[in-house]
Amino acid sequence: MGTPPATMEVNLERLFFVCPATARAVDVGVETEIGTLLRIKSETLRARCPACGQVHDWKVRDATLAQAA
Ligand SMILES: [Zn+2]
Repeated sequence: MGTPPATMEVNLERLFFVCPATARAVDVGVETEIGTLLRIKSETLRARCPACGQVHDWKVRDATLAQAA
């Protein structure tokens, strides 16, 4: 825990997706800057789902953001 260093103003957004098999929000381990995220939001991200173990294609625009503080 502790206070994160405040020198860098780069805020990484952690992407959560909803697993279509289990309807659970899953953390696929992807963090990105908001600027990058906006650039790739029409893309599809393929990742292995930690909830069901399958590989899903998720639309980046469908991601739920959680601030990776
Ligand atoms: Zn899944």
